[in-house]
Amino acid sequence: MVIGKRAVVIGAGVGGLAAAQALVGSFEQIVLIERDVLPTQADARAGVPQGRHPHGLLPGCVEALDTLFDGFSTKLCDAGAKVSDFGQKLLLEFSAQAAPPERRLGIPVIKCSRGLIEWVARRELQPQKSIAILDGRRVTGMVATPDGNAVAAVRYETQAGAQETIAADLVIDASGRGEPTLDFLRATGRAAPEETAMRIDMNYSTAIVEFAPQNRPAYDVLRTMPAPPGNTRQGLLLIREDDRFFAAFGARGNDAPPSEWPELLEFSKALQTTTIYDVLMHAKPYGKIYRHKFPENRRRYFERYTGWPRGLIALGDAICRFNPVYGQGMAAAAKEALLLRDLLSSRKSAAQPLDGLFEALMKAASPVLDNIWMLAAMPDLAFRETHGVRPENFDEAMKFNAMMQRAACVDADIHKLVVEVMSLLKPGSALKEEHVVEKIKRLATQFDAAKDSLEA
Ligand SMILES: Cc1cc2nc3c(=O)[nH]c(=O)nc-3n(C[C@H](O)[C@H](O)[C@H](O)COP(=O)(O)OP(=O)(O)OC[C@H]3O[C@@H](n4cnc5c(N)ncnc54)[C@H](O)[C@@H]3O)c2cc1C
Repeated sequence: MVIGKRAVVIGAGVGGLAAAQALVGSFEQIVLIERDVLPTQADARAGVPQGRHPHGLLPGCVEALDTLFDGFSTKLCDAGAKVSDFGQKLLLEFSAQAAPPERRLGIPVIKCSRGLIEWVARRELQPQKSIAILDGRRVTGMVATPDGNAVAAVRYETQAGAQETIAADLVIDASGRGEPTLDFLRATGRAAPEETAMRIDMNYSTAIVEFAPQNRPAYDVLRTMPAPPGNTRQGLLLIREDDRFFAAFGARGNDAPPSEWPELLEFSKALQTTTIYDVLMHAKPYGKIYRHKFPENRRRYFERYTGWPRGLIALGDAICRFNPVYGQGMAAAAKEALLLRDLLSSRKSAAQPLDGLFEALMKAASPVLDNIWMLAAMPDLAFRETHGVRPENFDEAMKFNAMMQRAACVDADIHKLVVEVMSLLKPGSALKEEHVVEKIKRLATQFDAAKDSLEA
């Protein structure tokens, strides 16, 4: 049984692709409209400039995609993505902090380019009869019902400049910036949603590099973290499906990684450690270096909105954009899509299943977003460049984070739990349970004592 005739999804990014799959079985037809002409391979594209930069696929994201698209991770690996255990082939270097030893945690982590993730998802959607992908079409607006209380249609422009309109019972705005939603609210005399912005001014440069077999790094992922509050420089090496590596660098405020290889290599020397530089010295750059600016984390509180129009849903970055360095954006979008799928199937026998749908989705999604926002905002607030209000317990929370890292070095269960929380497999509250807090404090003290006696 379906809920409506047609749903339109704006944007074929990770959010739009996941949302289209979530709608299968609930609508007779699902139309995905994308402004880019979509590549037939796993390539980056203009509409998602961030796709040229590494996209860490958190296990919490994979879990959601596996539930939406049956066996997504297997298909991704069949298409070339690399998989290993989260505790192995992955080195995370924290400033003034030991990294946990390599150990098997039983949590698989998949590594590939963002282009491959989208391509595999598109390949899953394309053969389905109820799905139509209209690429090379830019959505220019939404049409309201005569009373202004609901969305009735979507307008778009083809590459040839033709203006077309398609009727829809439900519209999902997965356009990233969410402009179609904000425009519709304005056009129907509604207020913009309440929002919070946290200025972080992140600057990125990403190269793709190749290694001769004898120079290949021992790790698939090598990450050197910055040292707040003053040193914002960080680096990441991440393996790709083609056996090359992303070599990505970040810095905040007026500091920005350069766009030419020799300078970028020099920049890698100035990280907290020279681990990445030592490896990159033997690498050969492949292709262009891309830069990106990410000015702010932003969250729109749609859950607080009253008088929301029927048949309109925002999803993914259109709701919340997180500092990309924590790799949470795709997971948030995929988790929202999964919640939408479950809500739609629970409403199939309701008289008016679309009434209050977005309100119900936001009610279910807001604890997920609270958790992710907390995980991203706390570390961001440690930097001088961040403009945001520190919570009262900020220093205490940062101290606890550092203890958690030390405890993870000496205890496999805490290591696993920290990874599960950071990977969005478990909520942050799992680390706040009394017995866990006590164990972390005890282990951190043990770690400090062992370090002191070694140094004595
Ligand atoms: C530098 C950088 C690195 C990142 N790294 C990670 C990472 O490691 N892990 C992670 O999980 N996330 C990462 N992210 C975040 C991630 O890219 C986003 O959270 C995720 O892409 C959100 O998906 P989305 O579908 O909401 O939006 P997008 O992926 O931005 O997709 C929006 C789509 O809508 C299309 N579109 C826009 N307007 C229109 C229109 N008017 N008509 C038709 N189509 C339209 C666009 O062309 C695009 O295809 C990173 C972001 C940046 C900036």
